[in-house]
Parts: sequence; C-alpha cells; structure tokens
Amino acid sequence: GDDEARGRKNNKTDGESTNKGNVVVSVRVRPDVGPKDGQQDRDWDVNGKRHMVTYHGRDGGGDYIYDNVFDTQDNNARVYDATAKRLVRRVMEGYHGTVFAYGMTGTGKTFSMQGTATSPGVIPLAITDIFSYIRETPYREFLLRVSYLEIYNEKINDLLAGPVIGMGGQPGPQEEIKLREDSKRGVYATPLKEEIVQSPTQLLRVISRGDQARRVAGTQFNSRSSRSHAVVQIVVESRERAPGPSLAGDKRSAIIPGGVRVSTLSLIDLAGSEKAADDKERRTEGSHINKSLLTLGAVVGGLAGNKTGKDGKKDNHLPYRDSKLTRLLQGALSGNSLVSILCTIQIGASGSVAASSNHANETLNTLKFASRAKNNIVSHAKKADDSLGAGGDAGSRALLDRYRLEIQ
Ligand code: ADP
Ligand code: MG
Repeated sequence: GDDEARGRKNNKTDGESTNKGNVVVSVRVRPDVGPKDGQQDRDWDVNGKRHMVTYHGRDGGGDYIYDNVFDTQDNNARVYDATAKRLVRRVMEGYHGTVFAYGMTGTGKTFSMQGTATSPGVIPLAITDIFSYIRETPYREFLLRVSYLEIYNEKINDLLAGPVIGMGGQPGPQEEIKLREDSKRGVYATPLKEEIVQSPTQLLRVISRGDQARRVAGTQFNSRSSRSHAVVQIVVESRERAPGPSLAGDKRSAIIPGGVRVSTLSLIDLAGSEKAADDKERRTEGSHINKSLLTLGAVVGGLAGNKTGKDGKKDNHLPYRDSKLTRLLQGALSGNSLVSILCTIQIGASGSVAASSNHANETLNTLKFASRAKNNIVSHAKKADDSLGAGGDAGSRALLDRYRLEIQ
C-alpha cells in the first residue's frame, strides 16, 4: 500500500539509518531520597541536558550520550511518551516490540514499568494505547493474549498459572517450563498460560494477578523481585475486517479472506544489576542473576562484531543459550524486534542502597551497558504481513472468529 511505498522510499533516502528509531536507549535518574551528599553530587551532571550524562570521576569520566536522559523532574507519562509510545503503536501495526528496564535495585525499574495508581508506568500506559488503537482501527479486528512469566534462579515460573506458590511460599506443583524455538514464533516458553483479554481493565487485572503471585513468592525470600526478571508478553493478532454487514455486528456474514497478522509486545522488568550480596544463600541466587545479566552484557557487547553483517545469522556464536534471559530475548537482541531500553540510575544518594562504596561503579556499569546497547543493537524489524500470516493458523482464525467482536 501507500504506507509501504513511503516506507521504502524513506529507507532509501535514510541510507544506513534504518536502525534509527528502532532501537531507543534512555537513562532515567531517580530522585535522591537520602540526605545530600555533596561530594557525590558534584561527580555527576544531568540537569538541562536531555541526551547526556556527564561523569566527572577519574575512571570512566566523560560524557555519555543517549536518545533520552530523564532527570528527576520527568514523570512516568513523559518517560513513556519518549521511550515506548511509538513502539507500542508499531506493535499494533505488526512489528515485534521489546521494552526493558535495566539498573541497580532501588533505582526505579519497577516504578517506571508499573508505576503507581497516581502515576501509571509503561505497562498500564501501553495498555491504554493498545485499546485506543483498536478503537481507532475499525477496519481490522483484534485478538489479544497475555502471558506473564518470571525467571528466578534460571527457572521459569508462570505467574498466571494459578496457585503457583502455595501458603508458606512453597512452590506448587507446576510443570517445568521450557524454552522452545520455531521459525514462526521464535523462542517461546511452554507450557505457559495465556489469557485472552478484551478490555483494558481485564488486561490490567491479569497483570496485577501476576504481580501478586510474584509478591507472595517474595515474602519467603527477601526482596525476591529484585532478583528475578519479570516478563509480560502481549500477543496481538489482527486481520482485516470483512466489509459490510460485519461492521454492523452481523457475525454470520463475516467471511474473511487473507491471513492473520501476529506481533508481540514484551515488557520486561529485569533483576537488579548490582553484584550479589556476600552471604551464601544470596550468592546462589546472585550467581544465577549474574549469569543472566552477565550473559546479557556479553551478548550486547558481542553484537558489535555484527554491525557490518546484513543478516542476523552472523551472531550465532553469541552465548544466547547460556542463560534463560538471553535465550528469551534472542529475537529482540538479534534484530527482529523494535527495542527500547530504559536504564535507571540514582546519583547523589546517601542513606540508601545506592550509597554503597560500589555505587559509582555500578552506576557507571549501567551507563556503559546503555552505551553498548545503543552502539551495538541493530534492528531489522519487519512488519508482519497479512498474506504471509506469520501465525495465521486455523487456531488463530477460530479464536478471532470467537472473540473479535467482543473487544471493547
Ligand atoms: P527497582 O525496581 O529498580 O528496584 P523501584 O522501582 O522499586 O526500584 O524504586 C525504589 C523506590 O523508589 C520505590 O519506592 C519507588 O516508588 C521510588 N522511585 C523510583 N523511581 C522514582 C521516581 N522517578 N520518582 C519517584 N519515586 C521513585
Ligand atoms: Mg523492582
């Protein structure tokens, strides 16, 4: 169509910058909560620079440039608008999209992703936009499915599977969840409960059920949520709506030609990126977290060698399989998804976890991770095509037939 023609033309005129806008890397600075520590404050400079963090320290000092730098004045709505709004819209149009929050514990990952009742974060704001898009697109019909998993100690837990964790925090009899790969779906977790949702309220309720399961589990192990990766996935299927009577609500006359377009929005709240604490139990947990996050770092670092390669196949040597997290993110990191990474830091802090002696180091590590992500991740994300019908199998069609008219 016209859009595609324009898209091609833009790609040509933009030359190599097809990646532009497909990978967005941002840094958000959390407001200081402790008493002022003048020394630390002078080490960092963010105010008034919307794309830059300056570190005045001796090691690693210099300017760090990103797509966005949010300071303590920027609220969740502003962060969402600049980091995820466009990505969410493009997921509705058929692209895969991945948003993840990376940073030390206590720097605002969950605050940014979930937000609060008065200041909703990326997840609830994305949900609002998803349903707005559906309302504004009457010529297509949609099916939405949501899943919610957690990776904890290199084990995948289904946060929607019901009483996953029983009283006393003991794991229930959940079937082992494995990662599989096929050419259509890429890497996916199975068996994983997927809920079909038809309204924003319903979708929010499903996700808060998952949050609840995560919190219950967390009472047993101190601050488990800071040690696990939480992954919300919303699968969007859509197809052209038959013209005529079906628009008026007559289900019987809707005989739809063409395939089903399938895309996935992944919203990920990563475990804290700081090194594991020193006591023994935590070290077991921490080593797994480090394994996932270290592998993530290695993959993102290793992607640099692929920049000149045209096909994603060149990164077969990267250690995606070394951790569950990188395996699950493989598609996104190797280029078939739009990506937005929100790195959270807290500077000038004392009287908090962030005030430890390693704090400046950890903050620098976060900034360096963000820089590598910005430099190395290349996205060749393509819009799913109706006629190719990536996931347009009979099952999808039957579900769409059943649910399409009920979406609100
Ligand atoms: P993380 O998920 O990275 O461990 P949280 O999101 O739980 O960190 O944030 C830790 C605390 O700081 C929470 O009480 C949260 O409400 C608060 N907080 C984090 N970022 C901000 C922010 N930008 N503005 C106001 N409060 C914040
Ligand atoms: Mg958190």
